[in-house]
Amino acid sequence: MTKKEQLYEGKAKKVFATDAPELLIVSYKDDATAFNGLKKGTIVGKGVINNRMSNLLMQKLEKAGIPTHFVEELSERETLVKKVSIIPLEVIIRNIAAGSFSKRYGVDEGFVFETPTIEFSYKNDELGDPLMNEYHAIAMKLATQEEIETIKKYAFAINEQLKAFWAECGVILVDFKLEFGKLLDGTIVLADEISPDTCRLWDRKTGEKLDKDRFRRDLGGVEDAYAEVMKRLNEHI
Ligand code: ADP
Ligand code: UDP
Repeated sequence: MTKKEQLYEGKAKKVFATDAPELLIVSYKDDATAFNGLKKGTIVGKGVINNRMSNLLMQKLEKAGIPTHFVEELSERETLVKKVSIIPLEVIIRNIAAGSFSKRYGVDEGFVFETPTIEFSYKNDELGDPLMNEYHAIAMKLATQEEIETIKKYAFAINEQLKAFWAECGVILVDFKLEFGKLLDGTIVLADEISPDTCRLWDRKTGEKLDKDRFRRDLGGVEDAYAEVMKRLNEHI
């Protein structure tokens, strides 16, 4: 597969065209941002970890019947994926209160929910990814009712798979963000990435944060946390 022109450079990844119109190459960077790009930094080795972790988890999800964009890992930082038209919704699943949920609703971080929750944010950096309900998303033609139903079904199924897997690794899956996209024939697939950038992962024994909150909150030990979750994943995958 030949890498062609760069189509896009985002906050965490670059996207390249290939000689196949239906395939893209994503390249994972070490750049880290938080608070809608206000905080910038580097997490050394993050791109390599996120690439590998996302690919291993997506292959696991495929085995469980969830379609993903994953095609082939090309190198430490680069992966071949199916090109999708991204549905501009950040799909957030939560098992435990944290981050913006705790702030918005005044709930202590760590409060365990009775059932997992889902919420959508409109993926729009200029607007700061505002919360959006599914009626708004349908009204704005971001997705159809049927597509929203499919996304919800997949998102909760992904939660069950990932929660169980991380539990085997001694890690609590607190919350995470997913992005879905559409193939040319309209099929909805999981896209983007699943990594410590997009999930909150807490050590079961110590409660230690093993994710991007270490960077967001200046907790130190950021690289070590990414390396630790990658090690646990490798031991249990
Ligand atoms: P951001 O755009 O939020 O800064 P990234 O740096 O991760 O994020 O950039 C990757 C971009 O590629 C994102 O906008 C994401 O929605 C998009 N993307 C992820 N997977 C695919 C795919 N399979 N096809 C097309 N676009 C994708
Ligand atoms: N998240 C993400 N990208 C975003 C916003 C959130 O990957 O643009 C992830 C975040 O890592 C966490 C979950 O989604 O695992 C829920 O994040 P929250 O809404 O609590 O926002 P935050 O506190 O990160 O601003």
